[in-house]
Amino acid sequence: MYIIDPEKEKKEILNRYRYLLSAWKAKSEKDRRLVRKAFTFAVEAHKDMRRKSGEPYIYHPIEVARICIEEIGLGTTSILAALMHDVVEDTEYTLADIEGMFGPVVARIIDGLTKVRTFVHAQDTDSGSLQAETFRKILQIFLSEDIRVILIKLADRLHNMRTLEFLNRGTQLKISSETHIFFAPLANRLGLYLVKTELEDLVLKFTEPEAYATIDQKLKDSELERARFINSFILPLKRSMAEQGFQFRITGRIKSHHSIWEKLQKKDVSLEEVYDLFAVRIIIDTPREKEKLDCWRVYSIISDFYKPNRERLRDWISNPKANGYESLHTTVMSHEGRWVEVQIRSKRMDDIAEKGYAAHWKYKQQGDSESGIDEWLRQAKEIIEGNTESDALELVDEFTRSLFGEEIYVVTPKGDEVKLPAGSTTLDFAFFIHSQIGTKAIGAKVNYKLVPLEYKLNNGDQIEIITSSRQKPKEEWLSIVTTAKARSRIKEALREERKLAIIRGKKKLDEILSTNEIKPGSETLKTIQTALQIKDPNEIYLRLENGSLGSDEILHSLRPPGREGIFNLFLRPFFRLIGSPGDASEEEILSTIHENPGSLLLSEDVKEFKTVVAVCCQPVPGDDVIGLRINPEEIEIHRTICPHALQFMSKHGDKIVKSKWKPQEDVSFLCGLMVRTGERKGMIKDLLDVISVQFNLNIRSLHIETAGQISRGIFMVYVQHTKTISDLIEGLKKVPGVMIVKRINKLEEKNPMASE
Ligand code: MN
Repeated sequence: MYIIDPEKEKKEILNRYRYLLSAWKAKSEKDRRLVRKAFTFAVEAHKDMRRKSGEPYIYHPIEVARICIEEIGLGTTSILAALMHDVVEDTEYTLADIEGMFGPVVARIIDGLTKVRTFVHAQDTDSGSLQAETFRKILQIFLSEDIRVILIKLADRLHNMRTLEFLNRGTQLKISSETHIFFAPLANRLGLYLVKTELEDLVLKFTEPEAYATIDQKLKDSELERARFINSFILPLKRSMAEQGFQFRITGRIKSHHSIWEKLQKKDVSLEEVYDLFAVRIIIDTPREKEKLDCWRVYSIISDFYKPNRERLRDWISNPKANGYESLHTTVMSHEGRWVEVQIRSKRMDDIAEKGYAAHWKYKQQGDSESGIDEWLRQAKEIIEGNTESDALELVDEFTRSLFGEEIYVVTPKGDEVKLPAGSTTLDFAFFIHSQIGTKAIGAKVNYKLVPLEYKLNNGDQIEIITSSRQKPKEEWLSIVTTAKARSRIKEALREERKLAIIRGKKKLDEILSTNEIKPGSETLKTIQTALQIKDPNEIYLRLENGSLGSDEILHSLRPPGREGIFNLFLRPFFRLIGSPGDASEEEILSTIHENPGSLLLSEDVKEFKTVVAVCCQPVPGDDVIGLRINPEEIEIHRTICPHALQFMSKHGDKIVKSKWKPQEDVSFLCGLMVRTGERKGMIKDLLDVISVQFNLNIRSLHIETAGQISRGIFMVYVQHTKTISDLIEGLKKVPGVMIVKRINKLEEKNPMASE
């Protein structure tokens, strides 16, 4: 409970302000006066406001300004804007007031921030999460305004995430999902590694509190042991580097909670294996022109003591990442037989790696080639500007892809280098070169070998596109390209193609009508539409053109309705069923269980909705769940860690329904378990005994594959509570020879062997 004490608060505000000044190290007296003025102004403007925590509101802008200086590396203008970033939105003062006092640049940044905030508006109200349309607007502001708008917004978001515990659970989840889907990747793209890492950790803390706490505890428990190991590992390196005259700093690095969690989720590795990852960073003080050479000299020293894993060598110095990251990474074997990742970099590289954009500008020299970040900003602008017509949701996906993506370099037959997002296909490449080449592409030669259009390109591939004048753009191409450019060009070509097909279809209809001496016109067309139940007349033309509709059916539809006509009408829906995907029986079983959970209690006001348990994350009573109102009648229940749910929440924050389980014993839910074991006679029988005899659970399916000495099984069992799952996991772990037992969180993981 926060207790208000005005005298103490006054002191605290001043303390925080003084700290801000000391972190900032003012350049001139003029700047100092400006910051003082902004501070006084902000204190006055926010004087009657409090944060949800009970603290004076002004703590927040001061803290955001401090983050801008200390953690992002921004300067005076940003401090001014950060101190006043919530003034226009929350108080009586206007933008004109600020412009009058601080000039147009600061005012403009604050204007951008205010606009973004009115769109996001997530901190203090319960409404309006990042829906697709507002998302687009925010991106437009970000990319058209001063880059500092994004950076200050990230500082603002970071502080809000740090203080998220004071908000209610629904808002926590909403803000976390926005951060997960948008702000953390954005920070990553701008090279703000520390901000990105902390945002991800905080998201985990609020979406998966238990997992977070477990990892946290584990890390704390192993701290001493880790320090001891790292110290003995770096000792010989220190000595040798000092002998060779290096100025340097070596630190042991702890993996972030989020990255550990991700490892636990994604790969099938055990907890111990994950925590057994050690990382060391060596930062050398060396002039710019000697950086690369010196980093490799350090590499050579390391390899004198420890054996490097050749496959884990990463040279981000010769080929910096798209977000500007430069570093040399190697993984070596310690004398105790543990793998240790060593990162070698200069001070400049380290600054850029941790603080990103701002640091990047600080070090930018004249004549530097355009950096990855600049390049990305340009591309992002292209995506926004080039997609004015497309669906906002699609735009969001497109943009997110550009946020996450790494890049690859490929070459044309002439040896020209082309940069594409990782995952690009030969078709992307074709459209990158020219849309005429893209629309006519039928295949390609990659490194002189024939490959199809959907072939995924690798770094260094040499590509020659094969075209045919008879080729036409196809709808399914949209699913094999990843770049915005290719996508929009394909859509354009398809639209063009459709227009031509409609014209040809129209001509065909006219021919059919005239040879049968039927009067063309809107009456005739209406009759055909009604008889065939086709709303859009263009659809009729298109079907005539592609042959799925013939002259017989047209003539038939124009006859007065008799028995046949009715027959036709009723039969149509049944024909559709035949074409529906197989495996209906499994679907049926699933839906019978999932659509009648009965045991789910939603918040009082939504009881009348039908609830459906999501298939993607397979929640079980006891799991932390959330309801999503996918359509007006239905609420889908997802686990709070479900990536689909996160995605949905971030776009439709207003459709989240608080949900929790009502204890009940008689309904079972399907749950998947992955078991990895060594080879032993009777192993499967033992596992089955534990599940069906000891725990008395029904098994729906089991799938076992063996590779060498290792077997892996996927068991789908019916359980009533998440507690049963953890007990079962413990039980299975006791079977001799069992190495790993893991709950499968995602449906795709049902068959993890397939991806190997
Ligand atoms: Mn704020």
